Amino acid sequence: MKQLTILGSTGSIGVSTLEIVAAHPDRFRVVAMTAGRNLELFARQIRQFMPRLAVAAFQEDVPRLQELCAGVPVEILGGVEGLIAAATAPETEMVVAAIVGAAGLVPTAAAIRARKDIALANKETLVTAGRLIMDLVKEFGVRLYPVDSEHSAVFQSIEGHRSADISKIILTASGGPFLNTPAEQLSRVTVRDALNHPNWSMGRKITIDSATMMNKGLEVIEARWLFDVPVEKIDVNIHPQSIIHSMVDYIDGCVIAQLGTPDMKAPIAYALSYPERVATGVKPLDLTMFSGLTFFKPDLEKFRCLGLAYRAMHDGESMPAVMNAANEIAVEAFLEGRIGFVQIADVIEGTMNAHQAQDLTTIDEVLRADRWGRETARGICSGLVI
Ligand code: NAD
Ligand code: MG
Repeated sequence: MKQLTILGSTGSIGVSTLEIVAAHPDRFRVVAMTAGRNLELFARQIRQFMPRLAVAAFQEDVPRLQELCAGVPVEILGGVEGLIAAATAPETEMVVAAIVGAAGLVPTAAAIRARKDIALANKETLVTAGRLIMDLVKEFGVRLYPVDSEHSAVFQSIEGHRSADISKIILTASGGPFLNTPAEQLSRVTVRDALNHPNWSMGRKITIDSATMMNKGLEVIEARWLFDVPVEKIDVNIHPQSIIHSMVDYIDGCVIAQLGTPDMKAPIAYALSYPERVATGVKPLDLTMFSGLTFFKPDLEKFRCLGLAYRAMHDGESMPAVMNAANEIAVEAFLEGRIGFVQIADVIEGTMNAHQAQDLTTIDEVLRADRWGRETARGICSGLVI
């Protein structure tokens, strides 16, 4: 029986994780879970999975959560201290890191220090603090399993091979809802258009990241740290059908890929049950249903965010954390109708142009760079006219 903490249980990844847990009660048990604002759903999850500890990420939500959980034998905590308590619960063996954004960094780092294995969905943890996190993983001897579908695909394609034999990692990208929208029309797309992802059903922030292709930029950085491969060896191919989830190209000319129906339950389950596999209910893949699988290079002029992510990685040190912070602020402003779609890239670029990359030697320094990026990006957003 593997004892789990789920950080972000009410999100898209959190809900899919709980579906896997519910399907395998003999293998997994939830010890602790945390959520942000969706308290009604959270309370229903608490009643169903009966964790020992439940945490409302925002302290002011604790009384309401207590009310909703009246009569349930569960300890309820709140705030960042609560998130850390959930991430480090003594009986927890694995932490599913499924909070969205840089807010996932501190509890994930605490879990590693408490020697918990991590199933990592929160890519922002590695984008903002990749080097420090991978050092902690080594220092505390824990395993970090990717949940992101592309990284799970690479992880599955890399097993049993020497990293010295890798010629390239090829991350696939669906291209999002605007793949075929002419660049000059992007300034007129709406929030609704941007949230309409063709292949994947996900949280709002990552769905917008997919529409700008910043998501793929974040994933390039994530792959760089997870697999210890220089960024020059990580390519992105647009593959609109999202059937091949990523590939590894070896020095002998052989390419190993992982395929499947696009459903996050598959990579989540693999991270939870590694090295075994468990039934997930994911629709079996029938390749005869596809008349063709296509691949092409991304247009970096149209999808400027992807180029900005490469630039941030190249600049290194604090730049990816600042870029990530600016992206979070810009996406929020877009979702709230304060800036237009193409202005997301303007805000990120403006923030990066104002930043001088600095060494990051502690998580506190990462948080400082993150705060600086947010403040700068907020200033740029407020000066923009839609
Ligand atoms: P989501 O928005 O659906 O859910 C996020 C979860 O975090 C919710 O439980 C929310 O209540 C909680 N949360 C939000 N803000 C918080 C804060 N400030 N402090 C603490 N908790 C907070 O997001 P998601 O789509 O499930 O994505 C989660 C993470 O997984 C992201 O980093 C995303 O990039 C990554 N990811 C998601 C998918 C996917 O299919 N959804 C795929 C790959 C990677
Ligand atoms: Mg992904």
